[in-house]
Amino acid sequence: MTAFFVLLARNRLALLGGIVLACVVFLALITPILPLADPDVTNTSNRFQPVFLDGALLGTDHLGRDLLSRVMWGTRLSLAVGFAAAIAAATIGAAIGIIAGYYGGRTDNIIMRGVDMLMAFPYILLALAIVAALGPGLFNALIAVAAVNVPFFARNIRGITVGIANKEFVDAARLAGMSNSRIILSEILPNVIPVIVIAMSTTIGWMILETAGLSFLGLGSQPPQADLGSMLGEARSALITNPHTSIVPGIMILIIVMSINLLGDGVRDALDPRLKSGALSRPMAATRVDRAETPPAASGVGLLEVKALETQFHVKNRIYRAVGGVDLHVEKGECLGIIGESGSGKSVTALSIMGLVASPPGVITGGAAYYDGEDLIGAPYRRLRDMRGRNVSYIFQDPLATLHPLYRVGDQLIEAIRAHRPIGKAEGRAKAIELLKAVRIPNAEKRINDYPHEMSGGMRQRVGIAMALANDPDIIIADEPTTALDVTVQAQVLTILDELRRSRGLAIVFITHDFGVVAQLCDRVAVMYAGRIVEEGATTDILDAPRHPYTARLMACVPELGGGKRRLEAIPGLPPVVDKLPEGCAFAERCDRVQPDCRSGGIALVRKDGRGVRCVHPVDTREAAE
Ligand code: ADP
Ligand code: MG
Repeated sequence: MTAFFVLLARNRLALLGGIVLACVVFLALITPILPLADPDVTNTSNRFQPVFLDGALLGTDHLGRDLLSRVMWGTRLSLAVGFAAAIAAATIGAAIGIIAGYYGGRTDNIIMRGVDMLMAFPYILLALAIVAALGPGLFNALIAVAAVNVPFFARNIRGITVGIANKEFVDAARLAGMSNSRIILSEILPNVIPVIVIAMSTTIGWMILETAGLSFLGLGSQPPQADLGSMLGEARSALITNPHTSIVPGIMILIIVMSINLLGDGVRDALDPRLKSGALSRPMAATRVDRAETPPAASGVGLLEVKALETQFHVKNRIYRAVGGVDLHVEKGECLGIIGESGSGKSVTALSIMGLVASPPGVITGGAAYYDGEDLIGAPYRRLRDMRGRNVSYIFQDPLATLHPLYRVGDQLIEAIRAHRPIGKAEGRAKAIELLKAVRIPNAEKRINDYPHEMSGGMRQRVGIAMALANDPDIIIADEPTTALDVTVQAQVLTILDELRRSRGLAIVFITHDFGVVAQLCDRVAVMYAGRIVEEGATTDILDAPRHPYTARLMACVPELGGGKRRLEAIPGLPPVVDKLPEGCAFAERCDRVQPDCRSGGIALVRKDGRGVRCVHPVDTREAAE
């Protein structure tokens, strides 16, 4: 709740609207105790007095009544009627919507066709018809305005309710034996209330205007009672000669409706979780690059060389240093493993290379990624698009999320192939079958017509690999491609990747949190922690003798087949949140070898004999061999 108000207050316009509205409502509430003239006392000798007069600050109207007093009393009445109409419409509309949405079937059909019929009339016409039937008067105007707005609420709420009524928690409540009315009250209603509030806050201004409109036509408040609409109506004949009689209530309506709408939009934005992170704003085509310093030059090792890469997320006034200066390289035909706990920055590193981190909030603030000598960071979008998939391609964890559910896998493969090559459909199909065979999908000619949901997880991930291979890339970046698979399928997928690497000379960057996988596939491995590489070297060396305590602890977490009753050690504590990294070693907090000097200054990655370690007190080789 406080979060809601904080969000609301951050929206300047909404805050302004809220303050203005609060002032107006406050003044309307205290109107009876203010020293105002009687709004209904006429004094024809004093008619059409101009503004700023002694005794009548806003002048007088055509009957000599005090305009200030009338506008205050009128505001009171207009606000009351507007709010009452909104609450009535929201309550009745929501009730209808919930009942129709919850019970569905025939109930829904009958109710919603009735609502449709109401919606088929232009609603001002409908309101006029209702007032004509009931007779003029403020209360009848209120009924008319509420009635014409009920369908709007009913439709909105029904839609939301239909979605909620099929959720598992509602089924669970049914299974628990709750009655329908209790389910509606305790399970459905709390979930639709935000929508009701949003709908109300954005329509209340309208309802005030509509009531004023009816009063303006003489169908609402009856003389001598003032509401803003009737004041405008009475002033109409003197519009040219004494414009202030129209301007005073006119400005008041403007202020009220403007402030309500500004506040209403703010309420909507604050309640909509999708708008909170700014996610609805369209991300840029490539990650924003904002490098303060000129990036380090390429040193010419490897097909892909990442140098001092820094990627941050700027969320509100926080800066998350997801990647804080990473150096990597991978040779042709080599497999480099990147390993680390969840949240250590592996995915962000991988995505930064091809500019795939969403911006906002992502920004690449430093470093370079040289592909064959060309810096990809900050390369024009056209160039990146041309290279994505053709030079560097990606495999992600969940192929169900990356494959389109409504297209056959074959069509998606063909599309991927044709994105970079102008070839015909038949040729594309032949190539797609060839790819499916390459990833060892049995019966490829038939399976090419499958939809993603018709395949098992392992098969889908093979399709994912085939997609990545579609344009014969030189580098495949695989981001935890086997994490969602069971161990035997994982082994098959790893074998396929290994074979492809050998037969096609592919370079693979393999991201994982599993040392077992690294041991099976990777030539070299880089261990990441809190956005930095803490240890790097040949897989065999590191597996034999880890030097960074973090690596050692990570390896202790891996179960060994036939390892007997060895205790599996979990690393205590959690990785640091990357917006407040501690000084010194980021792992110090959780390290059992920590010394006072671990917590000060920057700790460099020391390279020696093809290995790098970022630790002041690395594990001694002999000690680890024990
Ligand atoms: P992993 O190593 O598990 O792949 P990631 O690279 O996905 O980790 O994330 C690294 C860090 O970046 C995490 O601490 C995460 O909180 C942060 N991060 C990732 N995406 C965002 C985002 N959109 N906004 C803010 N922080 C993010
Ligand atoms: Mg990840």
